[in-house]
Amino acid sequence: MSSKVILVTGGNKGIGYAIVRKLAINYASSSPTQPLTILLTARNPTLGQSSTEKLLEELKPKNILVNDGGNIDLKYVRLDLTDEQSINDVKEFIAKDYGGLDVLINNAAMAFKGNAFDINVVRTTFATNFYGTLNVINILYPLIRPNGRIVNVSSTAGKSHILSDALKQEFSKEDLEIDGLIGLLKRFEDAVEKGTYEQDGWPRQAYGVSKVGVTILSRILGRRADKEGKNIKIFACCPGWVKTDMAGDKAPLTPGMYSLSLCIMYIFESFEANILFLKDQGAETPVLLALGESMNSEENGTFWKDGKLNQW
Ligand code: NDP
Repeated sequence: MSSKVILVTGGNKGIGYAIVRKLAINYASSSPTQPLTILLTARNPTLGQSSTEKLLEELKPKNILVNDGGNIDLKYVRLDLTDEQSINDVKEFIAKDYGGLDVLINNAAMAFKGNAFDINVVRTTFATNFYGTLNVINILYPLIRPNGRIVNVSSTAGKSHILSDALKQEFSKEDLEIDGLIGLLKRFEDAVEKGTYEQDGWPRQAYGVSKVGVTILSRILGRRADKEGKNIKIFACCPGWVKTDMAGDKAPLTPGMYSLSLCIMYIFESFEANILFLKDQGAETPVLLALGESMNSEENGTFWKDGKLNQW
């Protein structure tokens, strides 16, 4: 039987790493008949490879990996959102080895620390968070099989309240297409360059506006998939405020419970350890959107937080 294939971007740390772990654990606990391949992608081969090895070690005692009698395979593949060749290489690899992709989780993103804000900050942030994500989707979309899903990890920081009412309406237009969305984001870049962004209704936030782009992109793609009769669901989500390199130590949620759960599992190999493993808080919503059966009946292109539908 051919494998179900899930790809996660930015899987070497933070929420991406927790998503990969939770996918493996949740899928295994659903007693599946179909094998699953998870492609943990990262731009840095050393980091990607070592995270994959660490995760394989973590999952070993649970007997869910192919080599330990289970039916889950975990592999590292290099993918840099800003390197189109790397995305094309991933496409070729998936097409050749698996024939298609079932779930694409666009998790990777970046944010400048502190208050940095100028046109270079905006362009660099957009290049990864919006254009990088868009490129990954454009290139891998043809591989997505019927019943497939795309989960875009966006953010509450990109909710509509950061925009003026007039801009909110423009982003909300039912007939907005990707070109129109790019046009709106370019208007922000122009306004930042001219120094008129505040009077034009934009916030002083490169990251927030890049995530407006990701959330609205998901909505447009969801609408388009429905219109074309494609059996693909596209969702955007906020993982919550999670303790990672990006969000810092003050964030209340954990991307995962790696150290504690691993220790306990080695000591007890117990059911309680499994419960702890399930507490990958930042991974909760992305994994629900990726694997949840109930998501098949949800409206395409919607935004989710805390496992629930959320208004943009
Ligand atoms: P981290 O900074 O911990 O991890 C970001 C990941 O993205 C890293 O693996 C990083 O790789 C990767 N990445 C960055 N740029 C690229 C690129 N060009 N190509 C490929 N990978 C890249 O962040 P989080 O885990 O906190 O964030 C994960 C997602 O969750 C992001 O989309 C973020 O916007 C979103 N989010 C996070 C929140 C939080 O509170 N943490 C809140 C709301 C949303 P490398 O290690 O090489 O830098």
